[in-house]
Formats: sequence, structure tokens, C-alpha cells
Amino acid sequence: MEQSISIAQLVTASNNALSVIKNVGNKLKKTKRSDALSDVLDIQSAIMEMQEKQQRLINENMDLRGRVKELEEGLKFSGELVRDGNYLYLKSDKNRTEPYCLACWGHDRRLIGVIVMKQAVGPDIFQCNICTKRGDAVRSV
Ligand SMILES: [Zn+2]
Repeated sequence: MEQSISIAQLVTASNNALSVIKNVGNKLKKTKRSDALSDVLDIQSAIMEMQEKQQRLINENMDLRGRVKELEEGLKFSGELVRDGNYLYLKSDKNRTEPYCLACWGHDRRLIGVIVMKQAVGPDIFQCNICTKRGDAVRSV
């Protein structure tokens, strides 16, 4: 597979292009070639517009890389999980002491540990802070 260029290389290349065209513009300012100068200024603003779009792509790229990493992490765990009621446990957690949120796993393959609240009477209450933020109610076992 062809090696992808780095973001730093891309930014450097477009900064170089902008700096070259700025130099050309400065040289033209010393001449009477106002048509050419106007063209150069158009090119300069076109490059700056490209740089703005490039920055948006860079940001999107970084978000996507983060998401891929999360999904890869999730994939590593998928064979290691077992469902019990509405919660997930690692197969290695034989005593089922560390429950994970089934809803969060289904939502975006993130393994979110739920908070277990022991009650004096009745079953423990499990709470997922991510689901709570999303507006899902606290659930009991
Ligand atoms: Zn959750």
C-alpha cells in the first residue's frame, strides 16, 4: 500500500505555496503590472480558502482516527464478553464483580463500567454515567 502523507507534510506544502505566491505579489507591487497583481491576490485568497478546508479535513481525520481506535479497542473485547441480564462482564470476571453497560456497548462499542450501588434492602442498583447523560434512566438488575 502506498504510504500516506503526514498532516505536517501537507500543511508545510500549502504554507510553501502561499509563501511563494506572496513573494510574487510583493515583486509585482513594485511594478506597474496591476492586472497580474490582482490575479496573484486571487490565487493567494484561493490558497487561503484551500487551507481553511484542509484544516477542516485534518480535524475530521483526527476525529475519525480516534473513532477507529475506539472501535479497534472494542473489537478486542468483543470475544471476551458475556451477557448477564442487561449487563456485560468479561469472561475472566468469574464472580461478576465488574459489570459493563450493555446499552453503551450496543451504542458505540465502548466498554463503560457501571457504578454499583448497594442497597440495604433489595437488589443492587447499577448506574451508567454515560447513559444518564444521554437521558436513560437508572436501571436495577
Ligand atoms: Zn451506558
